[in-house]
Amino acid sequence: MIATAGKVDADVIVVGGGIIGGTFACLLGQAGFKVILLDSGIRQVKSLKHVDARIFAITMASKQILKKADAWHRLREEAIACFRKIHVWDENGAGEINFDSAAICQPTMGYIIPHQFIVDALEEKLLGLENVRCLWSVSPAFLKEEADAILLSTENGLQFGARLIVAADGHNSKLRALANIHYKKHDYKQSALSCVVTTDLSHGETARQRFLQQGPLAFLPMRDPCQSAVVWSSSPEHIQRLCKLDKTAFHLELAAAFAHELGNIQKSSKPSVFPLSRAEADSYTRPRLALIGDSAHTVHPLAGLGANLGLLDAAALAEVVVDAAQRGRDPGRLQVLRRYERRRKGANKSMMYLLDGLKHLFENQFQAVQWLRNSGLDVVDSLPFVKHAVLRRAMGLTGDLPDITRGHH
Ligand SMILES: Cc1cc2nc3c(=O)[nH]c(=O)nc-3n(C[C@H](O)[C@H](O)[C@H](O)COP(=O)(O)OP(=O)(O)OC[C@H]3O[C@@H](n4cnc5c(N)ncnc54)[C@H](O)[C@@H]3O)c2cc1C
Repeated sequence: MIATAGKVDADVIVVGGGIIGGTFACLLGQAGFKVILLDSGIRQVKSLKHVDARIFAITMASKQILKKADAWHRLREEAIACFRKIHVWDENGAGEINFDSAAICQPTMGYIIPHQFIVDALEEKLLGLENVRCLWSVSPAFLKEEADAILLSTENGLQFGARLIVAADGHNSKLRALANIHYKKHDYKQSALSCVVTTDLSHGETARQRFLQQGPLAFLPMRDPCQSAVVWSSSPEHIQRLCKLDKTAFHLELAAAFAHELGNIQKSSKPSVFPLSRAEADSYTRPRLALIGDSAHTVHPLAGLGANLGLLDAAALAEVVVDAAQRGRDPGRLQVLRRYERRRKGANKSMMYLLDGLKHLFENQFQAVQWLRNSGLDVVDSLPFVKHAVLRRAMGLTGDLPDITRGHH
């Protein structure tokens, strides 16, 4: 157990140095806070990196947050692709919806960026901050709350004390478990296959999604006009079968499932598979502890929003903590942290259930529901006012956004 009661080594300890924890640590580090960031992963040599197959759709709000974290300009230019249009359609029927950033006078709707490049940019920033200490291959073991500090001991015997500890260690958060916060999980009984493909036809900077009976299939445009990041959600058995196919058979099945929208598939990278679930922590806060990102909530990837929601958490918590410190208040107090929870929990919950509803709506095979959703897509498509409101919201241009996200895009 922790012996050094009362010792305070940092203002904030962040557990998990993924995209969300890394962003939060940058925001606080830049504001002058003394931060310790712990990650259980191994710090890899750069040339061995870029193995993570996840490629993210990033909203304009997230771009602003990464800018504020001083990480956006550190992204390698060749890593960033813009998407200017979205095309969504249903396998059964002729209903479709199209979005175009030009319709709302925006140069782009968002960006497609490999996850690992974002983590690299954040890491570069963190390593340059004198008041931030990064430790790899470290995992939490015990947690103890004191009157004016929280104490953490790690599996390899290190001990730290801080005013606040933040869990950003993903959906299997160890810190959340140590804090005894229940995580309500609903297994979608689906997996997502993710890989990068080269197609016959150019994607034309359009993100496409086709709703199939077993789940959505998305092609996200990458920097190369004929390269797309594929996310195919389906039953675990189907995904397992796809992974066992030889390349030629896989390419044929993938192109057919996508109705040859981009022609044939010429090449593909090794697929990665992710089990899918929706989950939510009962509470985002405890005295001196807060959860952000996937440690607080997990959503279906059909709208590419998980990390975007997590970045809003990181920005909102950073704002609340910095504001408290500026007013001379202890940022670890529950009253302070509750302000963050009130701002983000409801918003995340609504998005989670909206995505859940969409998933079920598109998987429902009743004829009447099929007709309704096809006509619904067409109706929304024909109402510019509604469509543009949806579009602005999806791009992270409107809604209850942290102040950090307001700026020039
Ligand atoms: C197929 C797929 C596609 C997706 N596409 C998108 C998209 O287009 N756009 C989008 O916004 N979101 C997308 N998401 C969601 C996105 O992946 C997550 O929401 C996001 O990665 C959450 O970030 P995080 O930092 O909270 O957690 P993670 O990315 O899981 O990072 C957690 C970090 O904590 C560390 N860690 C874990 N355990 C410990 C421990 N015990 N101690 C210390 N450190 C620990 C890990 O090493 C890691 O660095 C997608 C998800 C999937 C599965």
